Amino acid sequence: MVNYKKEIDKLLTTLFPITRSITGDGNRETLRLLQEIIPLNIKEYPTGTKVYDWIIPEEWSIKDAWIKNSKGRKIVDFQESNIHVLNYSIPINKKLKFNELKEHLHYIEELPDAIPYRTSYYKKNWGFCLSYNDYMKYFDENEEYEVFVDSEFKEGSLTIGELLIEGTSKKEYLISTYICHPSLANDNLSGVVLTTFLAKELLKKKHNYSYRIIFVPETIGAITYCAYHEEIMKDVDSGFVITTVGGPGKFGYKQSIDKGHFINNVIEEVFNDHNIDFTTYPFHVLGSDERQYSSIEFRINVATICKDKYYEYDCYHTSHDNLDFVKPEYINESLNLYLQTIEKIDKRIVYKNLFPYCEVMLSKHDLYPVTSGAGRGIDESDVLCQLLLYCDSKNDLFEISRILEMPIEVLRSLTNRLEKKGIIERLF
Ligand code: ZN
Repeated sequence: MVNYKKEIDKLLTTLFPITRSITGDGNRETLRLLQEIIPLNIKEYPTGTKVYDWIIPEEWSIKDAWIKNSKGRKIVDFQESNIHVLNYSIPINKKLKFNELKEHLHYIEELPDAIPYRTSYYKKNWGFCLSYNDYMKYFDENEEYEVFVDSEFKEGSLTIGELLIEGTSKKEYLISTYICHPSLANDNLSGVVLTTFLAKELLKKKHNYSYRIIFVPETIGAITYCAYHEEIMKDVDSGFVITTVGGPGKFGYKQSIDKGHFINNVIEEVFNDHNIDFTTYPFHVLGSDERQYSSIEFRINVATICKDKYYEYDCYHTSHDNLDFVKPEYINESLNLYLQTIEKIDKRIVYKNLFPYCEVMLSKHDLYPVTSGAGRGIDESDVLCQLLLYCDSKNDLFEISRILEMPIEVLRSLTNRLEKKGIIERLF
């Protein structure tokens, strides 16, 4: 078990205040800070580039934003919290009556002291987010307000962090997390921080497989990455979208698109190894970047291990999702689960049966007992037949051992013999 609690704490505190979005200097600064821990490549993709059905938007930056009341007092202030402003707000500097202003104010009545997090990336708009308590306290329908958003849009680029950890085999697994949320801790600073230390740990030794680790702005970043790395991404075996891993609540995992895929079984096995009571969330297209990676031409089975999954906790997408809610020890626990899952994945062995039409004639290959017909109990030839049935280029030995309820060591010695006889071929 690794213990990165101190480093996690430090990184969380450093990254939390940064104003991130789908583009901009906050993302660059975040990735630059990660470069102090892992050798990340920072890649830029220019504004205006068509990526499938999308276009990389103009780069957004913001210096300041506030609302003043008629007495000139700031009643909403970006400097106090960067989620006070609608992310991607257009600039504005105007005096407004309450009636004109109110449709631009966002709050949550049910969580009266929390500031909601809202975005408007593709519809040019401006707005402010504030607690319902402040809304009730500071706003009056007869008053006039001064509204100021000092933001800028320019031809720039979208920024992505990438690290390929090459293993003995070129077969790749994807590890993706998203960097577009400003000061919100569980969704998804926890994912960014976990992924960083996961990469740091994976870099310590040579693995069998290769791991492609990417830090992208959600949706547009994942789409951009897929568009620029189409052939590579089509070849990715499976992987993870790492998000919401640092809350005080229960562990859970969101299944990949193919529920029977080995990645889901491996995750459950790791939970069971530790007697962890976990929630299973079946695949759904709503969620995070699995919707891009699972799309028809890519169909990458990506799963998510989480601790207080997005949508499931009360303070999701509010100012209460902060560093009081998320703790380094929770992220460290999740990190260990990801590491153990990857360790199991890295030991995967998949065989192809070279006699896929009906069964192989075992006696011809000197694999059959001299006499047969006893019909009682299971002898080695029965196990060989069962094993060959599942060496279908898809199941790995872990899955076959689960299906046959046989120890993997026994199967390993049998696959070695079958391989020597030219009956099966190791694919990876
Ligand atoms: Zn989110």
